[in-house]
Amino acid sequence: SAAEEESGIVLHAAQEQQLRQDRWQLETDLKRAMDEDQFTLQYQPQIGLQDFATSGFEALLRWKHPGSGFVSPDIFIPLAERGALINQITDWVMHTALRQTSTLPLPGTRARVSINVSPVTLFDPGFPFAIESAVSLWGGSHDQLAVEVTEGTLIQDIDVSKRVLSTLRDKGVRISIDDFGTGYSSLAYFKQLPVDEIKIDKSFITHLAETDIDRKLVESIVELGHKLDLQVVAEGVEEERALNILREIGCDVAQGFLISPALPAEDLHSWFGEGAST
Ligand code: C2E
Ligand code: CA
Ligand code: CA
Ligand code: CA
Repeated sequence: SAAEEESGIVLHAAQEQQLRQDRWQLETDLKRAMDEDQFTLQYQPQIGLQDFATSGFEALLRWKHPGSGFVSPDIFIPLAERGALINQITDWVMHTALRQTSTLPLPGTRARVSINVSPVTLFDPGFPFAIESAVSLWGGSHDQLAVEVTEGTLIQDIDVSKRVLSTLRDKGVRISIDDFGTGYSSLAYFKQLPVDEIKIDKSFITHLAETDIDRKLVESIVELGHKLDLQVVAEGVEEERALNILREIGCDVAQGFLISPALPAEDLHSWFGEGAST
């Protein structure tokens, strides 16, 4: 009836209103999160597919909201981007990640850690300086640090992207293209960008063993990556069969629940077989 329809609409409007209010509340709470130590980092290991040795970690941000528990970064990162809080958060991530990984043993080198960088931060003129000071403070070399940016970020302004990425890369920071294959990047401008690594999006990896088209796509991405001298990483590796296919195809690095979920900092030493006490 018309009345039901109407009440449906009213309910819908009320839900929208509630959603807006929740988001507003969350945004307000987010502003306090840093001062109140509600952020932590977890580290997801990445392994070489030839030797199965740990090649690095991706730092993933966690926010424990005092009332609601853990909130997904897919929800709070966009809020932080809107409120310009994201630069401050990324700064904290950079410092914390370098500090927490600075004592990890990797054969011949220190552990490499990748951080996720939003467009807002990448295009902030202060960002290269922020990296510079974080790296010099934690006594590492820049090649300890990789930044992951999405294709979508880079195509917003190719010229500026090129300039910023070059600045970072001249400092030795590794550049990784996240969620590769989901954006709109055309090879024409992709080849102009100074990039070291591509991460094949997990949507291509999840059903790799069952889906012929995914296998073909992943195969061509790996081939393409290698032609452009890029290291190719597969994310979202959940199955043994997918791992084996990636090895066969010649993909360089794998990351995913099969290998390990993201680990709290205090578990990193036992990941390397140390700290038998835990
Ligand atoms: P992302 O960069 O694509 O990160 C990978 C996400 O996939 C992570 O979710 C990770 O926990 C999850 N994942 C890892 N292995 C598997 C797997 O085998 N299967 C499946 N289904 N998922 C897997 P998380 O930690 O919830 O992060 C979500 C997104 O939030 C990230 O996507 C990234 O875009 C953003 N994010 C996280 N931390 C930060 C940060 O410090 N700064 C910024 N700007 N963004 C961040
Ligand atoms: Ca990432
Ligand atoms: Ca990704
Ligand atoms: Ca993603």
